This record gives sequence, structure tokens and C-alpha cells, in this order.
Amino acid sequence: MGRVTAHSAESAGQPTVVERLAAPHSGPVPFSVEFFPPRSADEEARLWHAVRVFERMNPAFVSLTYGAGGSTRDRTVRIAGELATSTTLTTVAHLTAVDHSVDELRGLVGAYADKGITNLLALRGDPPGDPLGEWVAHPEGVQYANQLVELINSLGEFHTGVASFPEGHHRAPNLAADTGNLVRKLRAGAEYSVTQIFFDVEHYLRLRDRVVAADPEQGAKPIIPGIMPITSLASVRRMVELSGSVLPAAVADRLAAAAGDGPEENREAVRAVGIDLCTEMSQRLISEGVPGLHFCSLNFARATSEVLERIGVDTRGALTPA
Ligand SMILES: Cc1cc2nc3c(=O)[nH]c(=O)nc-3n(C[C@H](O)[C@H](O)[C@H](O)COP(=O)(O)OP(=O)(O)OC[C@H]3O[C@@H](n4cnc5c(N)ncnc54)[C@H](O)[C@@H]3O)c2cc1C
Repeated sequence: MGRVTAHSAESAGQPTVVERLAAPHSGPVPFSVEFFPPRSADEEARLWHAVRVFERMNPAFVSLTYGAGGSTRDRTVRIAGELATSTTLTTVAHLTAVDHSVDELRGLVGAYADKGITNLLALRGDPPGDPLGEWVAHPEGVQYANQLVELINSLGEFHTGVASFPEGHHRAPNLAADTGNLVRKLRAGAEYSVTQIFFDVEHYLRLRDRVVAADPEQGAKPIIPGIMPITSLASVRRMVELSGSVLPAAVADRLAAAAGDGPEENREAVRAVGIDLCTEMSQRLISEGVPGLHFCSLNFARATSEVLERIGVDTRGALTPA
């Protein structure tokens, strides 16, 4: 199979992420929002509510994560297509190499192209079921994300981004190797990276310094910080553990004080502190000249909207309840 240049990929392609980061926006920096594919009708309704709320705020782009497994995969491709065709949003589809042969990956890229999606986030993915378990490549698949970037870019006029890790990827032997890998992915043709969620701005700034020092040309490409307003201490602890990163002590202490000593955490107080923390991080990142802010929304609109409003994005009625 050759290039999937499909009429759609070439003619109906959306603006690129880099173009969207440079386009006019209402806040101090562009923002983007990450969604995940819903697993039920209720979750799908929640997703579409969030999508419509954010659409009114003119995000630079939205992205949809990719999960392994047949039914999830089909739903992901369908939802990404609907985001691209039924909204005004520039849509980035995540794509992972997990359990896919190169032929299947080509087919998926073609399916996205048919929906006019030309922005893809190329990821290796984690072993299904246990993100920290042993990674085994598909016998006819790819081993690393840089190969996926090359594959996608060889198929047509696609624009790829990759993942970056402020604290280093948990499988990288050290930060130098981790930086080397990000540079390899950028040299392979990725136009930007989106970071793993982090809660200590210093980690982001050091990553940026490392990439610039390793390769100034690649270091000029946007490193978009991935952030999220914490609304539950228990959930963020689990999330951080699964990604192999850490919750800084100062952040954990503030959240624990809000959570209280009761059998159930005080969700309202945790949420308030989570929104304060995310606002403070956003403001610091903006002052450090980030190219944008990428919010992991978990398909909820309200907490992220509150942060956006506080940092000066025009939320135009987006905070009114549905
Ligand atoms: C912004 C973002 C979005 C994400 N979205 C999803 C999603 O939608 N679905 C999902 O399942 N997961 C997602 N993930 C998780 C991601 O798939 C995992 O973190 C995965 O473990 C790493 O993926 P990668 O693309 O960075 O892999 P790679 O860049 O391939 O790196 C994997 C490991 O291999 C090492 N490595 C790479 N190349 C080489 C080489 N040539 N030689 C030796 N070592 C090498 C790297 O240092 C690293 O330790 C996302 C992560 C981020 C940060």
C-alpha cells in the first residue's frame, strides 16, 4: 500500500497544530483540550457537552486519546471523525503502536485521512492492562514512536506530534537518554511535542533546556505542557503512580490538607485547591513563554473552564450550567 493521499487528506486537511498555535486567541496563550473516547452513552453525552463548551472558547486544537482493543478502536475513530467533521475544532487523533501491524497502522491512518484528520499524535503506547508491564512489539509492527512518526509521514500530508516527559519516561535509563529519544522523534519529522502531565513547573523548564542544549533546531519546536486541574486526590495519586511520575510534596500536602482526615476526601475542598494549583501553574508557565497549555479534561468542562477564565481566556458564557 502506498501513500494514503486520499483526496480527503490533501484537500480537506485541517490547519496544523503549529499553525493553530500561531493563530489569534483570546487568552494570554493558546490552549488545547484532551478528551478520551467515551465507553457508554452517558459518557458520550458528557463528552459532547464538554466539546461544545470548549468550542465556544476557540481552543487551538482538541485531541482524542487512543486505547487498544477492537471496540474502543472503532469508537475512537468514529468520535475523532465526528470532532473533525461536526465541529469547528482542529482535531488531533492520538495513535499508538500497541498490538498493531504496520498494515493495520496504515489502515488507521487512512481511516483518519478519510475524515479529514491530518494531525496525529504518534505514540508507542503502553502494554494493555498494565502500563508499567513489559512492552512487546507486534511482530509486524513498530518498536518505537520515532518509527511511527516516519510511517505516518511517509503516507501523505500528515502532521505529527509526539509525547515528551518532563520527569523522563519511566523506561528511559536516565534523563539524557530520554532527551535523546525526544530529539530522535522530532528529527524523524514530528513538529511538536505534548508533555506528560506534571505538577512541578521546574521539570518542564529543565526538559525544555535539555532539548535546546541537545539540538537547538529541534529545541525550537513547541513543547506543549500537559496540565490538569486536580479534582480528586485519590484519582491523581493513582494516575501519577500509573505514569511512573511523582506528585511534588508541596502539592500533595496542600491537597491532603484540603482532603481532610475523614473516611472520604472532601472533594469540594480538593477541587478548589486543584483549581488554584492549576491556575498558579498556568500563570507561571505563561510567564516562562510556553507555546500553549494542553488541558487533560477527562471529558469534564467545568474545572478547566474555571482555570481558563482565571488566566484570562474569554469563556463567553461557557461557565453557565448545561
Ligand atoms: C501527551 C501524551 C499523550 C498520550 N496519549 C496516549 C494515548 O492516546 N494512548 C495510549 O495508550 N497512551 C498514551 N500516552 C502514553 C504513552 O503511550 C506512554 O507513555 C508510552 O510508554 C511511551 O510512549 P512514547 O510514544 O513516548 O514512546 P517512545 O518514544 O517509543 O519511547 C518509549 C521508551 O523507549 C525508549 N526508546 C525510544 N526509542 C528508543 C531507541 N531507538 N532505543 C532505545 N530506547 C528507545 C524511550 O526512551 C522510552 O523509554 C500518552 C502520553 C503522553 C505524554
